[in-house]
Amino acid sequence: MAYDFDLYVIGAGSGGVRAARFAAGFGAKVAVAESRYLGGTCVNVGCVPKKLLVYGAHFAEDFEQASGFGWSLDEAQFDWATLIANKDREINRLNGIYRNLLVNSGVTLHEGHAKIVDPHTVEINGERHTAKNILIATGGWPQIPEIPGHEHAISSNQAFFLKELPKRVLVVGGGYIAVEFAGIFHGLGAQTTLLYRGELFLRGFDGSVRKHLQEELTKRGMDLQFNADIERIDKQADGSLKVTLKDGRQLEADCVFYATGRRPMLDNLGLENTAVKLDQKGFVEVDDLYQTAEPSILALGDVIGRVQLTPVALAEGMAVARRLFKPEQYRPVDYKMIPTAVFSLPNIGTVGLTEEEAREAGHEVQIFESRFRPMKLTLTECQERTLMKLVVDAQTDKVLGCHMVGPEAGEIVQGLAIALKAGATKRHFDETIGVHPTAAEEFVTLRTPVGA
Ligand code: FAD
Ligand code: NDP
Repeated sequence: MAYDFDLYVIGAGSGGVRAARFAAGFGAKVAVAESRYLGGTCVNVGCVPKKLLVYGAHFAEDFEQASGFGWSLDEAQFDWATLIANKDREINRLNGIYRNLLVNSGVTLHEGHAKIVDPHTVEINGERHTAKNILIATGGWPQIPEIPGHEHAISSNQAFFLKELPKRVLVVGGGYIAVEFAGIFHGLGAQTTLLYRGELFLRGFDGSVRKHLQEELTKRGMDLQFNADIERIDKQADGSLKVTLKDGRQLEADCVFYATGRRPMLDNLGLENTAVKLDQKGFVEVDDLYQTAEPSILALGDVIGRVQLTPVALAEGMAVARRLFKPEQYRPVDYKMIPTAVFSLPNIGTVGLTEEEAREAGHEVQIFESRFRPMKLTLTECQERTLMKLVVDAQTDKVLGCHMVGPEAGEIVQGLAIALKAGATKRHFDETIGVHPTAAEEFVTLRTPVGA
């Protein structure tokens, strides 16, 4: 049967755009549907605007430290509306770039909500299009628990468009988004409380990293409340929010921001018209080739709930395009040693196994750790400390994990990830000449294992 398209991609986010562009480049006839914003979550309400706000928040400490280097400033003023307007302008520019990328690579763009009506047919704006393969790349959506008063809370989707900076913010959650946004609000001058239901935030990260960030955020005056969860939120007559915790305590805030994870975006997608199956957490179930239970339908990115990071969605998009239209170039995505950063202030950068994971996996480990005051701060009053940590297999000398909390940790860990992927040993690290004077050189000068 002749189809209108070889591939119909639903969702022009990180993964969908990458798959569509490369598939078209390999000679396939491709369409992509987008209901909301070109570039998806990352460009519009994720990585990019978030990083711009983090840069904005960082200026607070730059101004504070400048006097140590002889600069004097009148009292610094911050205007939220300017930051948001400039951010919006930049995102508009990126939307245009994404449009050009798609159109110039020969992809047909359909703007509207796409619904699958049968395993080879998509309906959009009242029209039906057939395709040999359909790719679900519809991403995720913030998930707020349905406690009484949850309608008064916001998620990251709204936070990027607030009309003004709230005076008192309560951030709920202990993952990437909670920690990053708590840093943004705090840095920009809001009185910020981070509320997490467990013992210590950032579950799954290395224990030293979690503890170190806790200490640094506390030093900066952020209110961290662990083992705390909200029972209800009530709006008061003056518009402020009264928050009642499960332990009976009450807090007041002008904004309650939930960052409690993301669900797959499958709303009105028409999966009931297919044999596509969902996994236990409700994400689209795929095999190693991103194939769903419906032979003509594939899925990738946040909607499959494996690793919810843009570079992973990009890699999956590339793998799908190659698998379908350039099989001789197909390489599976390697999910080991994925580096990641949390753009908290200070940043976290990490790659490989945590100490806890390494021990659990049965490695006999050697731990190397360094904590120091960054050189830039020596002329200032700031007492922030950087943490660097290596987890090494004592038997093979292989470096199993690198972890850092400190300025530019994300930038530093990218290079280390290449070394770890190439199988670097501690000896390789030791024999590498440092770049002086940098913080990064500490990673090649760690000589004595902790406790030795
Ligand atoms: P998305 O980018 O979400 O794209 C899905 C697209 O599909 C959307 O544009 C949506 O409108 C569209 N769509 C959905 N349903 C339909 C339909 N039925 N019809 C038509 N279109 C539809 N990752 C990082 O690596 N680094 C970071 O710093 C980072 N920061 C983040 C900060 C925040 C606040 C958030 C929320 C996420 C962040 N992420 C970050 C995660 C990253 O944004 C996602 O992993 C990535 O965007 C996933 O790409 P995707 O292609 O799977 O989906
Ligand atoms: P995460 O899954 O990272 O964290 C969710 C947090 O919310 C956890 O601390 C979890 O606690 C807590 N939580 C979950 N459910 C509830 C509940 N019902 N009540 C109270 N707390 C709850 O999700 P995020 O929303 O922070 O981010 C989603 C994903 O987006 C991330 O996992 C990441 O993959 C990606 N992202 C990446 C970024 C980056 O690369 N820098 C930045 C932002 C997002 P517990 O630990 O106890 O389960």
